[in-house]
Amino acid sequence: MTGRRAVRGPTDRVVVVGAGLGGLACALHLAGAGRQVTVVERQPVPGGRAGVLTLDGYRFDTGPAVLTMPGLVEECLAAVGERLADRITLRPVDPAYRAHFPDGSTVDVIADTRRMAAEISGVCGPREADRYLRFVEHLRRLWRLERADFVERNLDSPRDLLTVNLLRLVAAGGFRRLQSTVDRHLRDPRTRRIFSFQAMYAGLAPHDALGIYAVIAYLDSVEGVYFPVGGIHAVPVAMAAAAQKHGVRLRYATEVARVEVRGDRATAVVTTDGERIAADVVVLNPDLPVAYRDLLPHTPRRVRRLRPSPSAVVLHIGSSRGYTRIAHHNLHFGRSWRRTFDEVIRHGQLMSDPSLFVSNPSRADPGLAPAGRHTYYVLAPVPNLTVAPFDWRGPLARGYADELVALLEERGYVGFGAGIEVSRMVTPADWAAEGMAAGTPFAAAHTFAQTGPFRPATLHPGLDNVVFVGSGTQPGVGVPMVLISGKLAAQRITGVS
Ligand SMILES: Cc1cc2nc3c(=O)[nH]c(=O)nc-3n(C[C@H](O)[C@H](O)[C@H](O)COP(=O)(O)OP(=O)(O)OC[C@H]3O[C@@H](n4cnc5c(N)ncnc54)[C@H](O)[C@@H]3O)c2cc1C
Repeated sequence: MTGRRAVRGPTDRVVVVGAGLGGLACALHLAGAGRQVTVVERQPVPGGRAGVLTLDGYRFDTGPAVLTMPGLVEECLAAVGERLADRITLRPVDPAYRAHFPDGSTVDVIADTRRMAAEISGVCGPREADRYLRFVEHLRRLWRLERADFVERNLDSPRDLLTVNLLRLVAAGGFRRLQSTVDRHLRDPRTRRIFSFQAMYAGLAPHDALGIYAVIAYLDSVEGVYFPVGGIHAVPVAMAAAAQKHGVRLRYATEVARVEVRGDRATAVVTTDGERIAADVVVLNPDLPVAYRDLLPHTPRRVRRLRPSPSAVVLHIGSSRGYTRIAHHNLHFGRSWRRTFDEVIRHGQLMSDPSLFVSNPSRADPGLAPAGRHTYYVLAPVPNLTVAPFDWRGPLARGYADELVALLEERGYVGFGAGIEVSRMVTPADWAAEGMAAGTPFAAAHTFAQTGPFRPATLHPGLDNVVFVGSGTQPGVGVPMVLISGKLAAQRITGVS
């Protein structure tokens, strides 16, 4: 279903501003539907947040580390008759994560539910393993109820939610709090954390997020995590190459300064060099509040008041040290739980007892580092610049990087600091400089008021032929969701679902 509204008037020539995953997904679906598509991207490469950083022979993904639902990439490529397997070598990440707890115990999160039940049984006991198996069935059901009616669908009004599945979702506890949903099913504090930390991906604490977001845990912990040879950046590269092969014009290193608007229609985009590119439809992939602020004539009050997600600091490290105790993706939980989320999200403070995500991609693809070397990606949630306008350009960043390195040494990464050969710290100040509102790369938080039909729609509320794509619009944040937003944005233009 396409929802009630579609772009009015001609739709032959579409200009997509931005070659992020959302923009590329939209371009592929439109090219497949016979539209003449031009993508205008200010960077020299595609991918946006799924970018790449090269330092002295080390190669780092700058954004997403955990790739789920690769079938959605397949679907975008299939729109132009291409196959994922012809363009990307994708490998399952097994275990999907290794969770490290403060008492020294670890739990491997394994997508195969039988093996995962055995893992839980070994660490937490057989009764918890049974509970886990029942919880997986609950999550599977939630996802089945949500997918077609609420996620893969343009929603214009709360009335669009009134389906029989809404009642089923309410009955299944989808509108209770995520933490209470998890706690009702699981007893061990470790399994509870493993299946609730993903609320952070939605920009919220597990005790604030809705139960419907438990499906994020389902998508990574049960449906599985994948890693492409060459890194996640290989995904947008493949999508851009397929788009180009099928007639999409990709214009890199070209920045759009504004959308030209006449009456209630966009007529063109104008680049910072003054070039005018005429369009029947304009699709905007930049961070939604920034697209309004910088490219459109007027920002609605609702958009100005969107509540942003927390942000993150990412430390990219190329190192001579390898560690056998870790997996590809690692979660290092601190002792405190609720307090950690409250510090970052509510109080605008750095975590006093940090929980960290550490990825070690060169373990899966040694080609990402020079021979015998290793890449690490350390992500620490930090407040966004709205709740805590810290000066990340000053000594704070260096001090925080040192603190993270010291912390990892305490948590078993012996000699981590001494092994560093190259490093780069990315902070909220960098995200802001790259055009992300409130210095967060995770867009508007998925509060109830910013979810489903209450999240900005893919179609502009006042301009008949301006469409949004990406994490600021429906359905939301993360690689799978922005790929879906690409499909939903294309449906607004073609009128076909
Ligand atoms: C550190 C980090 C970790 C993450 N981890 C995960 C993860 O593990 N798993 C997951 O699924 N997701 C993760 N995400 C989220 C995911 O990466 C994003 O939700 C997604 O990539 C956003 O895609 P997008 O298309 O909405 O936006 P973007 O990727 O930001 O694309 C927007 C594009 O528009 C371009 N642009 C902006 N303004 C202009 C202009 N004026 N003219 C021309 N071009 C312009 C930009 O250069 C950019 O290429 C992570 C993100 C980050 C940053």
